[in-house]
Amino acid sequence: MVNEQYKNMLGGKSVIREFSEFAAARGKEIGYENVFDYSLGNPSVPVPDDYTKEMEELLKTKTSMELHGYSPSLGLPVFKESVAASLNRRFGMNYTPEYIFPTSGAAGALAHALRCVTKPGDEVLTFAPYFPEYGPYVNLTGAVLKVVPADTESFQINFEKLTEMLNENTAAVLINTPNNPSGAVYSAETLEKLAKLLTEKQQEYGHEIFIISDEPYREIVFDGAELPYVSRFYANTLSCYSYSKSLSLPGERIGYVAVNPACKDAELLVPMMGQISRGIGHNCPSSSIQLAVAKVVDETADMKVYETNMKLLYQALTDLGFSCVRPGGTFYIFPKALEEDAVAFCKKALQYDLILVPSDSFGVKGYFRMAYCIDTEKVERSLEALRRFVKENY
Ligand code: PLP
Repeated sequence: MVNEQYKNMLGGKSVIREFSEFAAARGKEIGYENVFDYSLGNPSVPVPDDYTKEMEELLKTKTSMELHGYSPSLGLPVFKESVAASLNRRFGMNYTPEYIFPTSGAAGALAHALRCVTKPGDEVLTFAPYFPEYGPYVNLTGAVLKVVPADTESFQINFEKLTEMLNENTAAVLINTPNNPSGAVYSAETLEKLAKLLTEKQQEYGHEIFIISDEPYREIVFDGAELPYVSRFYANTLSCYSYSKSLSLPGERIGYVAVNPACKDAELLVPMMGQISRGIGHNCPSSSIQLAVAKVVDETADMKVYETNMKLLYQALTDLGFSCVRPGGTFYIFPKALEEDAVAFCKKALQYDLILVPSDSFGVKGYFRMAYCIDTEKVERSLEALRRFVKENY
């Protein structure tokens, strides 16, 4: 008999995919350059030259076994050393390679981190608006995702609701800063407040509450601001990172979990992740990718375009009367729709070849997301369509 749980999931098509498929089909009719496709968070800038050069060098100089052989199950030492040193340099941490676990992107990192610190039936709290994949990421471990309603003023944490929802079954709090879809960056004040509250609750309940910090957009922060590094605020933190966005490498599937050395049972967690891999059939990312990334951990792709696009869109949207929190990072913006029903709003926008994603699947009603990881020239051309759409409908 086939598995009912996965079979039932076949009915629930991702709204983001649906809008993106519409964009692709429309592109065939009128030319994709004329479709203002803000649906997908796929990086639009090339990998850094140094990554390509390193790959070429590896292909020329390494033996077949070094390049294509099995990685040790807890990762290649050179990758783990390089990541630990970089995080220590940049964020004043004290990681050693034993606390770094290479994974297939942030998705792989979250799969391991979640299983390490929860058991079936435990609750994992996250904050709306949130990345819709958190549903399957958490619920398919047997733990249960609970969503804390949004603070729509700032898209920081709604502490009143969080305090109400924390309970003895809370095993972990899953946060994402800079945030997909709001673009919000949690302030140091927010993280201090979160750490204080969780510390009190840990004492009250007599068990750990871990922070699982999902950080694929850590390097995309605007206005020259410094991103507060979550793990510095709270010992029981597992940082889940991905090079998908920062190095524009989403197809290579590379990231890691960094376990705070001060966290409970810290020295056990990476070896436990090795055991989790056996169960979920993950195993380490490719050896060649670990080797190449190890040489460029402090670099990023040239991501200036994201900030340029954010400024253009933020200005145009606020000029048109949209209420919108200015993104502090990522390549997403999350304005309030001009009618209550965000799905109806986004469907009307399709008539102007504007592909916007309604907020319902992000856990908030009445907003929409624009993923502006596209060429600036296209953003500029889309503004006229946006103006016409608003003028003719609202
Ligand atoms: N978490 C968030 C918030 C994301 O936006 C994404 C991808 O878009 C992921 C996790 C998954 O990242 P990866 O492709 O590195 O697995």
